[in-house]
Amino acid sequence: MSLYLDNAATTKIHKDVVDAMINSFEYYGNSEAKYYDVAEKAKEFILWSRTTISKLLSCEPENVIFTSGATEANNLILKGLSSSTSNKKRIIISSIEHSSVEETCKFLQTKGFEVIRIKVDKTGLVDLKQLKEAINDNTLLVSIIWVNNEIGTIQKMKEIDDICFEKGVFLHSDATQAVGKIQINLTEFKALKSITFSAHKIYGPKGIGCLVLKKDDNNIKYQLTPLFHGGEQEYNYRAGTLSNELIVGFGKACELLMDDISNSNNVLQILENELIQILSRKFGDIFVLNNHWNHRVPGIINVQFKGFNNAILLKNAKDIFAASTGSSCSVAKPSRVLKEIGLSDKEISYSIRMSLSKYTSIEELSILEEL
Ligand code: PMP
Repeated sequence: MSLYLDNAATTKIHKDVVDAMINSFEYYGNSEAKYYDVAEKAKEFILWSRTTISKLLSCEPENVIFTSGATEANNLILKGLSSSTSNKKRIIISSIEHSSVEETCKFLQTKGFEVIRIKVDKTGLVDLKQLKEAINDNTLLVSIIWVNNEIGTIQKMKEIDDICFEKGVFLHSDATQAVGKIQINLTEFKALKSITFSAHKIYGPKGIGCLVLKKDDNNIKYQLTPLFHGGEQEYNYRAGTLSNELIVGFGKACELLMDDISNSNNVLQILENELIQILSRKFGDIFVLNNHWNHRVPGIINVQFKGFNNAILLKNAKDIFAASTGSSCSVAKPSRVLKEIGLSDKEISYSIRMSLSKYTSIEELSILEEL
């Protein structure tokens, strides 16, 4: 088996998560049903998962709204707020959002919304001055990706939160690549009212994620137009029978992250250093790091193999390692993120994202010596 270096796309599910899920299949009842055991137990499992997720993020269990993943959750918050009662028409995002935010905003543009994309510097950091200037009385929300999925840049969320709070604007963040790598305490933020993420990026199952949506400053629930109409599940924000099994897996994956973030970041840093060392030794000047700054999460490196087309290289090296040319959700297009941080089309065509798992062993990396 080749070395799997595409963990930013998705991770291998943890064995304890699988065990927890298998156990939950016994309790197949519909968690909304009443009076009988398999439903009551399902309800208990779901509450346990909701509570575990809320503890990880320091929010309330009822802030957690289960969805099929981060894509749906980003759609829910952006479209949901846009079609709620407010008549504000400006949406502000960064120029390096994941496609689930970028494409949703493009769609909202066709519905009459004005979308402002804040530029980033060559390390992927949002220009805070430009952000401040862009917020006006017509601004419905600001949405900034917490950690970028291609270059790992960690945004200055506290400063962004201060700016939005001062201007009285709702702040959302796609935290899909941040959860598990950054200790998120939602009580420390004032304008940040929602985040989104997926279980499968944190060693959990695919097909489950959530929108975490706090109440407003008057303790009133935000009005969101749901994406699907139907039942009253998820506090009327997301209709449809809940998947007990996926939700239990999601909760277990979050439980495993608890108290482990700094340790797992250390492991990832050690693995990353070794990976870079091997590749620099083997390839010398041909090997160039696109993300050499330190305000980024460990475990995602974006690299060029100068003179080698990325897709051809990945195909030829597939028996040694598995990685991607950029975001797994936009494989057909050259990376928008790398363009935004100033890389030329040629440099982008040489670029590969390699992303590690904290469960990779250092010995496994030695297969790269065969390149
Ligand atoms: N946001 C970011 C930053 C991501 O990396 C991803 C996954 N590529 C998503 C959103 C979408 O997640 P999902 O595929 O689970 O819907």
